[in-house]
Amino acid sequence: MLSDRIGRITPSATLAMTAKAAKLRATGIDVINLSVGEPDFATPENIRIAGKLAIDNGHTRYTPGGGTMDLKKAVTKKLLRDNNLKYDTSEILISCGGKHSLYNACQTLFQTGDEVIIFSPYWVSFPDFVSVTGATPVFVNTDPSQQYEPVMDDLRTKITSRTKGIIINSPSNPTGGVWGDETVLTVLELAEEANAWVFSDECYEQLTYDRTYISTAMLGENTERILTFQSCSKTYAMTGWRIGYTAGNKQVIKAMGKLQGQSTSCPNSIAQMAAIEALTGDQSEVSQMRNVFKKRRDYIVGRLNNMVGVNCDTPGGAFYVFPDFSSYMGIDYKIKSSNDLSMYLLEQKAVVTVAGIAFGSDSNVRFSYAASEDDLKRAMDLVEESLTELK
Ligand code: PLP
Repeated sequence: MLSDRIGRITPSATLAMTAKAAKLRATGIDVINLSVGEPDFATPENIRIAGKLAIDNGHTRYTPGGGTMDLKKAVTKKLLRDNNLKYDTSEILISCGGKHSLYNACQTLFQTGDEVIIFSPYWVSFPDFVSVTGATPVFVNTDPSQQYEPVMDDLRTKITSRTKGIIINSPSNPTGGVWGDETVLTVLELAEEANAWVFSDECYEQLTYDRTYISTAMLGENTERILTFQSCSKTYAMTGWRIGYTAGNKQVIKAMGKLQGQSTSCPNSIAQMAAIEALTGDQSEVSQMRNVFKKRRDYIVGRLNNMVGVNCDTPGGAFYVFPDFSSYMGIDYKIKSSNDLSMYLLEQKAVVTVAGIAFGSDSNVRFSYAASEDDLKRAMDLVEESLTELK
């Protein structure tokens, strides 16, 4: 009955965990949810006001399919201010979140017979975005001790004449890894040799803790085949507003807009008005949130590394840690996989995490530290307790 296309997609593991947590909470259990992929802060007040004003001022109708000209202008200003990137409004597409932008781009550029490089561990949606187009995801290994930068020898062997795209996601979900500029440059050079498109998913670009983030398109000499994806979601605690955008090649942007126009008509008109305020208004809350996240990162990394047999490399960005629990897993143990461990933490301790297997790595579990200090402390105490029980 259903199309082959739908058979190629798997449900989002992160959303599934969030649903499980909600179910448990509904039974009255005090659940600590560290599976979330969104800031635990409220959208800043100036942005909320802009949204309310948009409604009162009648910005409640369809907008142009690829977003309003005012928001596109705000995006070009933001890209210049924060990333030193110069784009014309004709090179910008506004979508219903960065996810929608990435989906549209995959649909626009990839098809059966193509191969697309994805670095593992990867964000859960990348393989599905690629598979649904008929193209084949090709996974490249990364080095956990080096911010999950690619193992270059593996990348070189995986690039073939069919490689049509390479997806970079730094800072990364799930690892929080932030690649060095030299590494990005090497990937760009290899992509250029292969004539492949580079997707740079920069939705966590404002969340780096140890160094200033440099956008991929700033590093490359030839930016014609680099598409930059950013989002209001994580930077401005606006996940539910659903505004993200793509910057890049005019022809691709136009084609993506055509697809979007025939699927969603346009991004939400009210959210677009709020996004203009987010991108061009007061930015002080962005750095406040960043400072809070950095403190939490240091706390959670410290706690995890103090647990016997756990290894957690310090991620440079995003709001996730991806510790290795392999010393607790194996055929002779009660815990055989990351799913087992994640389920154990959920069922025995009401701590919600996401099993690493969802991101392509069965030795790890993803913890989000977009949670209060109190929740993080209680969760770490409970994880420590479970590991003692499991040894
Ligand atoms: N890219 C990555 C790596 C993400 O983690 C997410 C959200 O979790 C997105 C893109 C999409 O975010 P949004 O659609 O809310 O902009």
